[in-house]
Amino acid sequence: SKMLYNDQIMERDNNINIEDRAYQFGDGVYEVIGVYDGTPLMMDEHMERLERSARELRLNLPLPVSEIKNNLEKLVDVNELEEGIIYMQVSRGIASREHAFPEPGTQAVTIAYTREETRQSDLEDKGGTAVLTEDIRWLRCDIKTLNLLPNVMAKQKAVENNSVEAILHRGDIVTEASASNVFIVKNGELYTHPADNYILNGITRKSIIQLCNELNIKVNEQTYTVDELLSADEVFISATKQDIIPILKVDDQMIGDGKPGKITHKILKSFRSLYQKEIRN
Ligand code: PLP
Repeated sequence: SKMLYNDQIMERDNNINIEDRAYQFGDGVYEVIGVYDGTPLMMDEHMERLERSARELRLNLPLPVSEIKNNLEKLVDVNELEEGIIYMQVSRGIASREHAFPEPGTQAVTIAYTREETRQSDLEDKGGTAVLTEDIRWLRCDIKTLNLLPNVMAKQKAVENNSVEAILHRGDIVTEASASNVFIVKNGELYTHPADNYILNGITRKSIIQLCNELNIKVNEQTYTVDELLSADEVFISATKQDIIPILKVDDQMIGDGKPGKITHKILKSFRSLYQKEIRN
């Protein structure tokens, strides 16, 4: 399949430059966009978040996001991707290795490729387990940067424990998970960490909150503790492509009755029809 390199669609060969700041410093931002029926979903939301991440890092995007968006859509068409993801990143560019920003005028480097992937509907229906681990990330988790080592270490712990996710906590407070946001249900209401500097404001998270308004399910964007997580009626995680996965057990603690919860199921069902709508538009 083909890749996007800056504004060119080309063969997916080895374009990595050893002095790309993405490679040496993780100095860049990225997005993962879900594709269904050949349609990238929530493109505007992803482009808006990309713009914000770049701005917070004082990284100048090489093109207006409207053009980046067009290039990504072209890539999906060229690769004839029906279902999967677009991975895209923008690094601060290629320059002799110095920590400080390179010379003004150094061009940011954009790359993107697509990957075929089908939805893990089994996990969505049946749920999975999670482990808990301390959130050791920096204090700007709201920026979607390429620096993902704490997330990598956390997810590896999950995998080694046959779990789908690692839920992160800073002291007593649950923040999010290694590559997803976390919601709990208690007495019919949802709780999720507020969108501040401690979490990535997930686009799936935002859609769920919007959806719950329509479904008359109250969502409290407020912090909750590890104990509240463990004694919740239901727990689920949300992320692009995985959508919503019910969490049935956290470490050794069973959540609720250990089965996917009713409210989680209701949200999942409406969530699926939500993107059917977007595909048709
Ligand atoms: N939190 C983290 C740390 C992530 O890496 C991700 C990405 O998938 C999410 C949350 C979920 O964000 P989104 O719903 O935009 O995919």
